Amino acid sequence: MQYIAIGSINVEVVKKNIKNMHLAVYPPNGRVRLAAPVDVNDETIKLYTISKLAWIKRQQRKFEQQDRQSERKYIQRESHYFLGKRYLLKVAEKNARPLVQVKNKTYLEIQVRPGATTEQKHHFINEWYRTQLKTMLPALIDKWERKMGVAVEEWGVKQMKTKWGTCNTDKQKIWLNLELAKKPIHCIEYILVHEMVHLLERKHNDVFQAYMDKYLPNWRTLKDELNKLPVSHIDWEY
Ligand SMILES: [Zn+2]
Repeated sequence: MQYIAIGSINVEVVKKNIKNMHLAVYPPNGRVRLAAPVDVNDETIKLYTISKLAWIKRQQRKFEQQDRQSERKYIQRESHYFLGKRYLLKVAEKNARPLVQVKNKTYLEIQVRPGATTEQKHHFINEWYRTQLKTMLPALIDKWERKMGVAVEEWGVKQMKTKWGTCNTDKQKIWLNLELAKKPIHCIEYILVHEMVHLLERKHNDVFQAYMDKYLPNWRTLKDELNKLPVSHIDWEY
C-alpha cells in the first residue's frame, strides 16, 4: 500500500489491473482511497487527486455531519429508522415485559421497565431489529437461491463494525449486519445478493460484477443509496 499526501489529506493509493482511476471517500472518517492503473505514475496520481480536492472535501464534510446524527439517546420523538422509513421514538415505562412496536406508521414505541437505562433501551430495540430481519430473510434467501441456483447452508444476523455482510464460501454461511434493519428492503436484498454471488465467485472481480449485473442490474444505484443518510458508525466495505 502506498500513500500520497495532498495538503492535509492522506490518499491511500492502490495499483490495480484497471483502465481508469477510481477515487473513493469512505465513512465514517472520510478515508480517501484511489485505485489507479498499474502503469500510472505518481505525478499523474497527484494531479488527478488535486483536481478532485473539492469533491473529496465535500464528501468528508458529509460524513462528519452524518456521524453526528448517529448517536442515539433513546428519548421521546427521537428519529429511528426501520426498513428505510423514519419513525419517532415513543418511550413508555411499564412494569411489564419490554416491548417494541410500530404504531400508526409514525411511532416506534418502546415499552420498558421504569428506570431502564439507555443501554437497555438500545439492547431491546436491537433485539427487535434482529427479530424483524430474521423474520423476513428466509423468504428472500429462498427467492435468490432459486434464481441463482446456489444454496445458503447457514445464515445469521449480527452487529458488525466494518461490513454490511460477509460470506464464508467454504461453509456457505452468510452473516448480515444488524444495521441493515434500518435500511430499505431493496438495500437489504442488494447486500444479500452480493453475499450470495460470493457463492459463485469469491473475489470482487469482473466475473463477480457480471453476476451482479445479471441478477441485480441496478446494484450500483442500490450501493449508492446504502451510503446516503442515515449511516451509523459503519464503514461500508463488503
Ligand atoms: Zn463481497
